[in-house]
Amino acid sequence: MSRRSTLEQMIRAGVNVVRLNFSHGKAQDHIDRARLVREAAQRAGREVGIMADLQGPKIRVGKFAEGKVFLEPGQSFVMDAARTELGDINGVGLDYKSLPHEVKAGDVLLLNDGLIVITVDAVHGTAIHTTVKLGGELSNNKGINKQGGGLSAPALTAKDMDDIRTAMSFKADYVAVSFPKNATDMEMARQLCNVAAEDGHRPGLIAKIERAEAIPHLEEILLASDGIMVARGDLAVEVGNAVVPALQKRMIKLARENDRVVITATQMMESMITNPVPTRAEVSDVANAVLDGTDAVMLSAETAAGKYPLETVIEMAKICHAAEGGESFKLESDFTGKTFTRIDHAIAMGALFTAHHLGAKAIVALTESGSTALWMSRHLIRVPIYALTSNIATQRRMTLYRNVRPLLIDTSADRDTAMSQAESDLKARGIVSAGDVYAITCGEPMGAPGGANMLKLCRVE
Ligand code: PGA
Ligand code: MN
Repeated sequence: MSRRSTLEQMIRAGVNVVRLNFSHGKAQDHIDRARLVREAAQRAGREVGIMADLQGPKIRVGKFAEGKVFLEPGQSFVMDAARTELGDINGVGLDYKSLPHEVKAGDVLLLNDGLIVITVDAVHGTAIHTTVKLGGELSNNKGINKQGGGLSAPALTAKDMDDIRTAMSFKADYVAVSFPKNATDMEMARQLCNVAAEDGHRPGLIAKIERAEAIPHLEEILLASDGIMVARGDLAVEVGNAVVPALQKRMIKLARENDRVVITATQMMESMITNPVPTRAEVSDVANAVLDGTDAVMLSAETAAGKYPLETVIEMAKICHAAEGGESFKLESDFTGKTFTRIDHAIAMGALFTAHHLGAKAIVALTESGSTALWMSRHLIRVPIYALTSNIATQRRMTLYRNVRPLLIDTSADRDTAMSQAESDLKARGIVSAGDVYAITCGEPMGAPGGANMLKLCRVE
């Protein structure tokens, strides 16, 4: 199968958002890929979000003369920021020139996602002298983490700033910021996006939680972002993998409580890079993330470089559906003690509560900014939410919201026309049929963001 049709099949199999990883490839590669994604989505008749994932200050070793070396436990290895020649078994260069100022004797460094462990014996000028504790194969540009965190590289590099301009040129729906340590990093990223988007496009911002320093600042980072990613790859290396599952649950809960979205990422279906079926543990991991309340589960190497990209998506979609079907709902306790200050928020919650208890077939949200759909999707119920908007950017942004199916609708006429058009649209799609009851929310005037002020319960004629 060609790569073009693989992508289309993956979208048909349930992909809602595609991540473009700016750690690999050139600007033009991403521009081309974004176009391929939009085209494949169109052929599949679905809307797909695009998330531009910035590389961030990932600290990496340089390149090796032979592409890689095999480090033995007990051997010494020198990482030298001033080294210009290619690496060998005795040492390698560094792309992050200030690393020698930020480590000291006794520090533990983890290379290649923690597969290799080295300890720092001494730092002499630009050279970090180390001893290998846990050996293994080290190849070109593998990442370096410091156990316990504490490296001070700023979250946005000069490359990230260029990449933001590239991402805005194709109107990325989300921009993911790697290694932010506080809210300021996210605010800076937002400003850069706003400046780069000459047409006023406003992407959603995702903070990748993947360094130890971010954990004490979780709440402020979350509030400065539209969502977070539980970036288990780097996070596990910095904080130790045993504490990651509990952190994952905490992050998902905190995100949902604060009306933010959350993506659970890394090694979810790792064995499917080479095998056609997942392990039992992977199935449980994906299902548990869904049961925890994640909006999205993310694939990385499985679909970027694996042998079975389509099979992986099909398997993962099956697990998600089954987990969602087996869910128990606690809407009442979510609402205990809750008060609303905004009319549109109250309307959204009223629709949710009513549709859930009425056993409605669907909730239909006519939304311009997407906020009604976002609020509704922060609570788990079985009734699917159809978010109808006339704004394509809103439609694409809503692809990440759990239990929300974003659709385009023309709202240029008056409210009653839009509402009856919404019903015929849902009927034509086979979502509702005669006798079904659904809840619909909308605002007047149509097309104004943040104006939902009406909830109507309808029975399909
Ligand atoms: P990455 O981020 O795949 O860009 O490294 C996710 C993670 O660290 O888990
Ligand atoms: Mn990472």
